[in-house]
Amino acid sequence: MPAKSQDSTTVDLNLDPRPEVRHDWRLEEIEALFELPFNDLMFRAQQVHRAHFDPNAVQVSTLLSIKTGACPEDCKYCPQSGHYNTGLGKEKLLEIDKVVEQAKAAKEAGASRFCMGAAWRSPRERDLRVVMEMVGRVKALGLETCMTLGMVDSDQASRLAEAGLDYYNHNLDTSPEYYGEVITTRSYADRLDTLANVREAGMKVCSGGILGMGEAPRDRAALLQQLVRLQPHPESVPINMLVKVPGTPMENVEDLDPLEFIRAIAVARILMPQSHVRLSAGREQMDESTQAMAFLAGANSIFYGDTLLTTGNPQIERDRALFDKLGLHPEQRATQADEADTETALAHAIQRQQDDALFYDAAQA
Ligand code: SF4
Repeated sequence: MPAKSQDSTTVDLNLDPRPEVRHDWRLEEIEALFELPFNDLMFRAQQVHRAHFDPNAVQVSTLLSIKTGACPEDCKYCPQSGHYNTGLGKEKLLEIDKVVEQAKAAKEAGASRFCMGAAWRSPRERDLRVVMEMVGRVKALGLETCMTLGMVDSDQASRLAEAGLDYYNHNLDTSPEYYGEVITTRSYADRLDTLANVREAGMKVCSGGILGMGEAPRDRAALLQQLVRLQPHPESVPINMLVKVPGTPMENVEDLDPLEFIRAIAVARILMPQSHVRLSAGREQMDESTQAMAFLAGANSIFYGDTLLTTGNPQIERDRALFDKLGLHPEQRATQADEADTETALAHAIQRQQDDALFYDAAQA
């Protein structure tokens, strides 16, 4: 995308880095941010980031697939959809004890949040009762809990909140205009309804999208505009790069320029200054420089040490080495102030990982 000179944009680089949090960004304003000269965009994102967060702290989550494959939805990027033959095995809901065991290992490895994902259109009653118990037991370990279970109605959301669920993940995926090219089995409005139910139940919202699915630059801006309209902004905003899985309809989509991905992170940071912006799926395909740029652009959350649902994710040792190189440290929850030193915990986890299979691999179990 040709970058406009500063003079030709409406973006003022000398704005207060702690401006009022806005929900009314116009599409043209968001596109103007995307079109800033790269260095100006990064500078602005850094200003906002530093005004709201420790710039060297990165929130670390671990993600476990608690029910893999055979999903009735037709998301064209997803190897878990039952509509495509990706060779992915179909799994039943994991036993609660197995989940708790993995959560303990994640905590020992320095994770502050444990995310559990199930490939469902929406949870059935008997499954909901099981996942509610999982939430209680994982939370009792002192971890924040997050789940992604598909669509939830207001009653389901309330019960999950009562069980102690902190975050619910439900991505918007892309712009309303491009959405029909990606999914046909549930509507954009369905997604917004689920997010509203989650918020009304008092849970925190984790919602973002996937870039590199063949969408136009305007779609990336429009996706962020939709997220910005949510009141309050999602506490957690995963920005994923498409992982092109053989067997899915998107396996041959043209690559997105990594610099366009970094621009999206930076714009998300500016638009949602108080949210954690998560560098999410697709990280394994990024070299260290791209990841470093994403942190510089304002990403301050990652998944590590596990298999990200069913696509690859860099292993804990590589992440630790990258954190060391960049002088980053895992963000700790306030309630974990008395936790053992994170470096020691990471070293311990690596040792354990060498001793045995520390992390459940959702793709192979
Ligand atoms: S993204 Fe979620 S809802 Fe869509 S097919 Fe995959 S598991 Fe199912």
